[in-house]
Amino acid sequence: MGWREQVALVTGGGRGIGRAIARRLAREGAAVCVNYESRADAAESLVADIRANGGRAIAEPADVSDDAAVEGMVDRIASEFGPVSILVNNAGISHKATLETYNDEALARMRQVNVDGAIHTIRAVMGGMRRMREGRIVNITSIAAIGTALPGNAFYAATKAELQILTLRFAMELGPYGITVNAVAPGFVQTDMARRGQSDAEWQEVTKRLGERSMLGRIGTPEDIANAVAFFAAPESGWVTAQVLAVDGGRMDYIGR
Ligand code: NAP
Repeated sequence: MGWREQVALVTGGGRGIGRAIARRLAREGAAVCVNYESRADAAESLVADIRANGGRAIAEPADVSDDAAVEGMVDRIASEFGPVSILVNNAGISHKATLETYNDEALARMRQVNVDGAIHTIRAVMGGMRRMREGRIVNITSIAAIGTALPGNAFYAATKAELQILTLRFAMELGPYGITVNAVAPGFVQTDMARRGQSDAEWQEVTKRLGERSMLGRIGTPEDIANAVAFFAAPESGWVTAQVLAVDGGRMDYIGR
């Protein structure tokens, strides 16, 4: 099967990193479902853009933490395009907290989206992938899970570390069916999540400071991450599984990990 036969689901595909991933997979030729939670406007504008460029796309709302909503979405994709063959678990939220500011409810919500969300989508698509004896699953984790130590990110990092180990374990479970499971661990990327709540001056200072920590001297763009995802998702990448690829410009603050 080539790119034209692929059906991709990108969770949180309307904005930020997910938007670049959805656009990239559509450009390769896959039919793409742009999932969103609340920002229908962003998802619909991307769908219109992909279609205007000759691609195939639909937008589907579903909170990934809601198992039944995810199953409903996967059924609707199947009736529109066929079974999902590429799943990108990109939807994520970050709640900053320390031991001092720990908040049970906010942290539970973060885990439900960042970890349970990926479990729900994988469970919803794996039956179809098994029947096809082929599938690509790419989880978006973070370099927070593998070494960087920005203040306030401890609990977020823990959710991403959980998703990282699940990536390796699910690769083992699904490998016999021809399904690959890999992760892309982004460094600091210019998106709403990264910028949240910062003034122009603060943002300039942060991007300069974090850019200087990378060997390549800049922070990332969503397209930098989409390029790595496209590699794992490609029909030709069928013998690459259980890998975590850091895409971070070569962060020097944890070079010794
Ligand atoms: P973003 O700009 O805040 O976008 C997050 C996306 O996730 C939005 O499209 C949002 O949907 C969706 N989303 C959130 N909760 C959801 C839910 N419950 N169900 C379905 N969709 C949901 O974030 P981003 O920076 O692009 O981050 C994308 C991924 O990369 C996340 O997993 C994040 O942890 C990871 N990451 C980001 C960075 C970075 O520096 N930006 C670094 C490392 C890892 P709506 O549009 O409907 O709100």
